[in-house]
Amino acid sequence: MDLVAPFRIVRQAWRGLVDVLYPPRCLHCNTRTPTPSIPLCSRCLQRLEQAAPDAVMDHIERLPAAPAALDRARALWRFDKDGALQQVQHALKYRNRPRYGVALGRLMAAGWDARAVALDAIVPIPLHRTRRYERGYNQSTLLARGLSETLDVPVRTDWLRRPIATRSQARLSRAARWSNVEGAFRATRADAVAGRSLLLVDDIITTGSTAVAAAATLKKAGAAQVTLYALAFARD
Ligand SMILES: [Zn+2]
Repeated sequence: MDLVAPFRIVRQAWRGLVDVLYPPRCLHCNTRTPTPSIPLCSRCLQRLEQAAPDAVMDHIERLPAAPAALDRARALWRFDKDGALQQVQHALKYRNRPRYGVALGRLMAAGWDARAVALDAIVPIPLHRTRRYERGYNQSTLLARGLSETLDVPVRTDWLRRPIATRSQARLSRAARWSNVEGAFRATRADAVAGRSLLLVDDIITTGSTAVAAAATLKKAGAAQVTLYALAFARD
């Protein structure tokens, strides 16, 4: 039995009550925000730096497996270490704020050029089940849901799995990051994946090793095209 779930429901109900008593504030500048699902005020949101269209692909192409694995790669914003976006990412990943994810996914959709490529499905980069259980949700799945609502493309969470629990990438060198994640993913629905144009969704791209390993797995399973779209891109 899932003993964590009841606590989570109580915690989320409590947060809803807190939002009514104390209106939500911008995570970065602390001014009141009218929309509690977006954790930044409109001023801080507008100040986020857009990622250059080619920045992610140029960066990722340095990984030997990348050209065959990914057809395109984009990010909405440039990651600002110690800035507003890092505060948002931290809240989403470590402070149990799942509602931010869908709202951020909608912003990703607003920044997406739907004419760039025809998509059959959106595939969030999966977490290993231990990590997902600890966090209670996969932040990339929430982003994917926000994208899906707007782009009208279905989310498929059962096409890619992550059966291998990899170490955290944060303190690893570039080369070690690749060997850490290579082979971590499995395509579980090769019949569904074959011939499809997929949008692979991640939160933050740093070296891109995890995304390339996931994309390579989908390509090996027969995906016709894999396009990566991340919330933000951080140069390592
Ligand atoms: Zn603000």
